[in-house]
Amino acid sequence: MAPEAIAAMEDVARGYANIEYDLEKGARGSRYDHVRDILCELTGAEDAVVVNNCAAAVTIAMATFARNREVIVSRGELVEIGGSFRVPDVISQNGARLHEVGTTNRTHLADYEGAIGEETAVILRTHTSNYRLVGFTTKPSLATLADLAHKNGLLLVEDLGSGTIVDLAAHGLGDEPTVSQSIRSGVDLVTFSGDKLLGGPQCGIMVGRSSLLAKIRKNPLLRAMRVDKLSLAALEATLRLYRAPHNPLKDIPVLRMLTADPSDLAKQARKLAKAITSVAGAKAEVAHVQSKAGGGSLPGVDLESVGVRITLEGISAEHLTAALRAHEPAIIGRIIGECFTLDVRTLMDDDIADIAGAIAAIADSG
Ligand SMILES: *Cc1c(COP(=O)(O)O)cnc(C)c1O
Repeated sequence: MAPEAIAAMEDVARGYANIEYDLEKGARGSRYDHVRDILCELTGAEDAVVVNNCAAAVTIAMATFARNREVIVSRGELVEIGGSFRVPDVISQNGARLHEVGTTNRTHLADYEGAIGEETAVILRTHTSNYRLVGFTTKPSLATLADLAHKNGLLLVEDLGSGTIVDLAAHGLGDEPTVSQSIRSGVDLVTFSGDKLLGGPQCGIMVGRSSLLAKIRKNPLLRAMRVDKLSLAALEATLRLYRAPHNPLKDIPVLRMLTADPSDLAKQARKLAKAITSVAGAKAEVAHVQSKAGGGSLPGVDLESVGVRITLEGISAEHLTAALRAHEPAIIGRIIGECFTLDVRTLMDDDIADIAGAIAAIADSG
């Protein structure tokens, strides 16, 4: 996390916090108010509530708006996230019925239209954040889906998962939709994670119409999913980095790493290679590699990156990989073409000396 977010958590942990105390009124306040204004400002939504992760956000949305009713979802979007969180199960576990429409690759507006009936409460759009449908595919735009939902008195809920606030596509990174694009398209409620592309603490964010978030605030499930004060402090500090004079692409580590300039990466790689070559018996060579975002975000996006291929005399790549994993802190790399390789994209300032030290220790112990 950003240093600002870490400092905010430390302040809250060390001192007293007014998490549920309204300083202006001198009376009980709501923990959900602290980040509401900044979330509305950054996403264009009317209101916001934060829970402990995005899985909780989707769960409470289904439990609040679709219990004993139907939810329409495209067959192309019946997503499984890691940890056995499956969209069809989340719907049924919260007492709603899933109405699947379309096919795996193509779902048309008419498919949604044809599925609407007496029992329908919600049209759910889920972002395929961890896989991609490519080739002969189609789906209606969010705006046309919002129109259809509203003409029929239904809600359009979108589970964005990754949830980016900055337009990463404008920086050459995939085609991730932003939260504000969803709000502008007319989605009534958007859910997304705080710790994927947002770069903050684990939490789940819901933004959308204030009448809907008012209902969510009244759902007793909210207490079971409530976000901790340390996470809220870190989230607020992270969100402030999206505002001028800050630059989220520089000030938020995950965004800085994702958008790192290849020439800066090459510089880092040369520094790392130099430090490693100073170890007797070690060879290091700068090489082009590709990074992946991981964390269930940006599937299929290969980021051009720079790595260092490391060999140690008399020690196999497998042994080197395992020995570095056992180092404190663990150093995790990949074997590419039989050579242990570290991608420098995720290095932090003190890491170079630490890695060279670890390699020296492995060389010593044979
Ligand atoms: C990751 C993801 C979730 C779950 O988010 P957590 O914050 O990890 O609980 C839900 N929906 C989608 C589409 C996701 O990508």
